[in-house]
Amino acid sequence: MLRTGCLLFALFSSSAFAAVPSVKVLIAKSLNNVVVEGMDLRKTIHTHRRSQQYNGRKTISFNCRPGPRKLSMRQTPLLVASLSSPTGLISWGKKKYQGELQLLSDSQSKSCDLVNSIPLEAYITTLLAKEMHGSWPVEALKAQAVAARTYAFERLRKPISSRLYDLESSEKDQVSGTFFDATENTLRASKETEGEILVGPTGKISPAFFHSKCGGKTLRPDQVWGGVEEGYRSVNCTFCQKTGMKDWNGKIRNTKLVGMIDRVLKKYYSDNISDSNIKIMPDSMANSELRLYAGDRLHIVKKSYLRNLAGREVLPSNNFIMSMKNDQVHVEGQGYGHGVGLCQLGALELAKRGYDYRQILSFYFPRHKIKTAYHQ
Ligand SMILES: [Zn+2]
Repeated sequence: MLRTGCLLFALFSSSAFAAVPSVKVLIAKSLNNVVVEGMDLRKTIHTHRRSQQYNGRKTISFNCRPGPRKLSMRQTPLLVASLSSPTGLISWGKKKYQGELQLLSDSQSKSCDLVNSIPLEAYITTLLAKEMHGSWPVEALKAQAVAARTYAFERLRKPISSRLYDLESSEKDQVSGTFFDATENTLRASKETEGEILVGPTGKISPAFFHSKCGGKTLRPDQVWGGVEEGYRSVNCTFCQKTGMKDWNGKIRNTKLVGMIDRVLKKYYSDNISDSNIKIMPDSMANSELRLYAGDRLHIVKKSYLRNLAGREVLPSNNFIMSMKNDQVHVEGQGYGHGVGLCQLGALELAKRGYDYRQILSFYFPRHKIKTAYHQ
């Protein structure tokens, strides 16, 4: 049951920032050339000594090899050029972006990476259409907005000096959209939660994770990645059961599983499998680890590590059971995605039933609170 009477959320703004921060999102990698278009484009070329600015173009082309090599003697990725327009919009191919596009050279200066520097609220507005859908109920989108904003904000607070961007637009971080992906609902969801992020029970900003469909229960970060994040709980979620990917199953050859287990042991446990004669111990959905004997030696491995190696086609989620029948391993699973934090299809169902975004977030993040991190 959803605990509607136990909302732990509080809205406070004592430590709010004055302005909306910008986030740098990697949108494309390893480009040989880049052509951007816009009105009255402003181009700033960055060299290791100075910056030169050019104004008034409609189209700007870059040959990414070997040009950027001449710009610097440094052997690390570096900012080659910044591109913007007084209109606030700039096009790369058929995609239109808000904010600024930045060209980075790779460490060997053989190609370019493209980064979009964009105000965080505009980023959230377009992201919602990709991570959920622009037509979904506003309260589901608002829950996603707070989670995605928290994820991005946490990265902004912990920049990595060797990296010239904060996030990737991919499933590795979160998938962002472009200007035309925004809808009336995504704009509302971003506006009505402006600056709001999740904090843990002690006020610490913790990364707010989300996934497509938990399939029955969410997982804690430590069950999937090993690191402990403040305030997470595994919650039973029945709200996603009727939508999205159905319960799934598959078969893996014994010999293939032996190879997978060996790679997991080497990569994550500094160990290896010593006997290819394996026996899987009785498993259940409640177990986030698989127990198996290789010969007479017991190995315990995280199911999520197996999924990392096997891929999403073989293991769509971390909620699965493995069992052995003859020379094959049978897998039965539920859901899609890593299973930590907000269940997107569960949030959709809750919003359809009339729950607001605070209730949705308090269900999936029962010990977290909402805090306003900045104002427009
Ligand atoms: Zn769910």
